[in-house]
Amino acid sequence: MLARTFGCVRVVFNDALHLRQEEYQANGQTISSTELQKRLITQAKHTAERWWLADVTSIALQQSVQDACLAFKNFFQSLKGQRTGRKVGFPRFKRKSNAQAFRLTRGGFKLRDNGKLYLAKIGDVKVQWSRELPSEPSSVTVIQDVAGRYFVSFVCEVEPVRQPAPTDGIGIDLGITTFATLSTGEKIANPRILQRQLKKLRRLQQSLSRKVKGSKHYQLARKKVARLHARVKDTRTDFLHKLSTRLVRENQALVLEDLNVSGMVKNRKLARAISDAGWRQFRALLESKSIRYGRDLQVISRWEPTSQRCSCCGQIGGKKPLKVRAWTCLYCGAEHDRDVNAAVNIKACIERSRNAAGGHPEALNARGGLQKTGKPAAADEARTRLEVEQLSLFAC
Ligand SMILES: [Zn+2]
Repeated sequence: MLARTFGCVRVVFNDALHLRQEEYQANGQTISSTELQKRLITQAKHTAERWWLADVTSIALQQSVQDACLAFKNFFQSLKGQRTGRKVGFPRFKRKSNAQAFRLTRGGFKLRDNGKLYLAKIGDVKVQWSRELPSEPSSVTVIQDVAGRYFVSFVCEVEPVRQPAPTDGIGIDLGITTFATLSTGEKIANPRILQRQLKKLRRLQQSLSRKVKGSKHYQLARKKVARLHARVKDTRTDFLHKLSTRLVRENQALVLEDLNVSGMVKNRKLARAISDAGWRQFRALLESKSIRYGRDLQVISRWEPTSQRCSCCGQIGGKKPLKVRAWTCLYCGAEHDRDVNAAVNIKACIERSRNAAGGHPEALNARGGLQKTGKPAAADEARTRLEVEQLSLFAC
């Protein structure tokens, strides 16, 4: 029944993309979400091609149509520059071989007293709860990842954590050899999770490439590759979660450098090592946790000469190639570790801005090279959205 629901949701989503595109090309008009729902769900149920849509819950199908409309909206807003963040591409069709998901809103699911989860038209499902829900959930998403594992994810409201930080502020310099260097001098090694599994991954991928596409053995080999990727991802996420939680709990202000990750991964020699590190995910985790804990997360411009400036006397000593790990300042004679010096400089940016703003860290103008992440409105939005918790449901 879960598989059928995944399938129907995928079909409705693809139908919605197709119909909207077709309608637009024919009449130059956009079909509304209600009209799409009427045609693709209510009316389609009575046709010979789509009668099976009646077997699954219509809540999941309606949500799927809404997702398709949102995908178009995001694309057009991004195109017009009305959307912050990365560019959003044209909506793509959903594939059977990718991860599958469907969402149910209130009325479509219920939490049973015996710990089971009732899903409309599917029934009671046994859940392996990873934690207690902080409040009454407003929706549930059931996910099947490529490795064939099932998850349920709830949207709940959470209270912000009121907990004073023991330390004032910290500068964080991200790298490849050492994952993070803190302005306190502490170095956190890069676990290089993918790197350690590369040999195994290569072997599995070779085995996959020798199979006949679409055969039973091909499917098995594909699953093995997916499982290894899932393990790598889980280990990395676990590492990033633990580190970000610790840093956010301990510090009132956190300063990061704004790294151009998309640009950096274009360097083919470093792409894998950079992606393996997970800088972008780390920053996203710091951002959401900072909001929840009421911390200031500052991101300084990538043009700030953090590795060139001497953190003792403030003189800029010029560019240093990446292989220079330690250097001595020509002006004051101080000896520096490259990363620690950079982290101290990153932290110093926030102090400079705090002094300028009379006690409160504030965004400087463009040339000051300091910017606050997100607008206040965006922060509020994040506060209500951050509560997405992922829980393992049951093993396949
Ligand atoms: Zn110096």
